[in-house]
Amino acid sequence: MSDIIKLLPDSIANQIAAGEVIQRPASALKELMENAVDAKATVIKVILKEAGKTFLQVIDNGTGMSETDARLSFERHATSKLSTADELFSIKTKGFRGEALASIAAVAQVELKTRKQDNDSGTEIVIESSEIITQQPCATPGGTSIAVKNLFYNLPARRNFLKSTPVEFRHILEEFQRVALPHPEIAFTLHHNGLEIFNLPVGNLRQRICAVFGANYNERLVPVEENTSVVNITGFVGKPEFAKKVRGEQYFFINNRYIRDGYLNHAVANAFEELLPSGSYPSYFLKLEIDPSRIDINIHPTKTEIKFEDEKPVYAILRAAVKRAMGKFSIAPTLDFEQEQSFNIPVFKGDRIPPQPSIKVNPHYNPFREEGKNTSPNTGTSVKTDWQQRIAEKLKPEENFTESKSHTFPALHYSAPQVYFFEQVYQSYILTYLNSELALIDQQAAHEQVLYEKNMAQLENSNSVSQQELFPVMLELSTQSFLAMQQIADALKTFGFDIREFGKNAFVLHASPSYVEKGKEKWLLEKLVEDFNSGATIDKKQLLEKTARSLSQNASVKAGQPLTHKEMKTLCENLLDCQSFNYTFNGKPIIVKLSKEEMIRRFEKK
Ligand code: ADP
Ligand code: MG
Repeated sequence: MSDIIKLLPDSIANQIAAGEVIQRPASALKELMENAVDAKATVIKVILKEAGKTFLQVIDNGTGMSETDARLSFERHATSKLSTADELFSIKTKGFRGEALASIAAVAQVELKTRKQDNDSGTEIVIESSEIITQQPCATPGGTSIAVKNLFYNLPARRNFLKSTPVEFRHILEEFQRVALPHPEIAFTLHHNGLEIFNLPVGNLRQRICAVFGANYNERLVPVEENTSVVNITGFVGKPEFAKKVRGEQYFFINNRYIRDGYLNHAVANAFEELLPSGSYPSYFLKLEIDPSRIDINIHPTKTEIKFEDEKPVYAILRAAVKRAMGKFSIAPTLDFEQEQSFNIPVFKGDRIPPQPSIKVNPHYNPFREEGKNTSPNTGTSVKTDWQQRIAEKLKPEENFTESKSHTFPALHYSAPQVYFFEQVYQSYILTYLNSELALIDQQAAHEQVLYEKNMAQLENSNSVSQQELFPVMLELSTQSFLAMQQIADALKTFGFDIREFGKNAFVLHASPSYVEKGKEKWLLEKLVEDFNSGATIDKKQLLEKTARSLSQNASVKAGQPLTHKEMKTLCENLLDCQSFNYTFNGKPIIVKLSKEEMIRRFEKK
């Protein structure tokens, strides 16, 4: 039998390798940006069209390449960053595997222009599907520019797997941020479809975080610093009150490389312990410096995971550092930009007690005050005011308490009180009678359902009642949140928000629905946007539905909020107006009933 094994041609081998390293435009961007950082660039520019699907260019002012190096850079396993196996364990550069450029060139049309800083002329190479099309001298600024066109043009199946431009752009932003955040000493810009999305000047880490996520992050950040022989930790954690409902802004950079690590994440989460409400995640931007010989980064093709020689001490140190930072923050005044820049850190003097950081809560706020007004449509009828009668009309016969059953308990005949009986228990439940049965209504669940049905009703009649803001509310958002807000702005208009785009990364709110508490509009919108930040693109109907859900959950009265008698009554009446009043749109029970039989059974002698 003849031999059947043959060596794959380079072009195919490269395409196979590309499958691991280059999954989407964002992975190409990551590799190109990392190469620019490795080339010691101080300015890195990114230019994209259609989220990099048709055009993606990275321009740097780094070392540049000689003519020979330029040609070699596209060969597989061609790298200037590693020459012996031992060096694998002392890596200080981002790259070392020498396969990124080869992979990209295997699956796209690539144009390289590069000039070494001290050479007079540069080199231009055009390469498509691993095949050199042209190579010639050219005039180009010192440094390197690599343009990647039509990614996967030669692999239709993979091209079809690319997501919509907004989704791919979200990946792009994430990768861009992962490289830009740990390198505030490098200036970065990003242009997309002709628009400047980021312009990040050189600064310190705090300034870089604010440049990426918005100036309002300045007051949210708590510095972390810990120097030990095992690891040096610097960076910031977000104050607990700004914790996110989605696992978003969590960044570990190990030796300036973005790394995902569940174990280390646990260390931070653990340090926050009871400071965070359940279901929320702390933000963190933490740089860990570790001797490269104590870690192995060569365990994953995209190098986003590492193996520690011994991870336990790192865990313990990280946890302690974050804990200490949180402890300090609770007594230390917030530093602002100017102060930090000039290193004029205020000295804590014992004669002055610094203000405790605080969250403003209006204890008197009640969301039903508006709705309880008789001026609102459909209220004020005599039926509406008769609570017991309304219940009788509303509840299905099988849910009604049937007197016939009561003959087994002749001694216990009673009739429900004719007064409106509402008592708030544990500041979370409303105790009342529903058709002669004792019932507990979960106030938060009830209000969520009321708001949800109210919003969904608005989709049909679109005459929402909104209140003009006395002062328009300005909303400055991170690029990612801005994109999310663009996505939901129309849906919010349907639900009674007058919200308009206002220049770069900002929106202005002119009016909001009457149930939204004054002064809480901004908070509410930020929460809404959070729910959409990580989401994929969805069709219009799903979007409206999801916005209605998110709005209802975020704007509802919460457990723990005191309610007046009138507010409880209004809420219960509104609840009975709902199509579904036993369960929320999420399937959470709203009403728990305690029947007479059940009560008797519980008091029986055992
Ligand atoms: P690696 O980064 O793992 O070495 P790459 O395929 O990403 O592999 O790059 C191959 C080589 O090309 C690098 O080792 C480097 O010498 C050179 N190179 C790539 N990009 C640049 C750049 N922007 N500036 C200077 N040299 C570069
Ligand atoms: Mg590289």
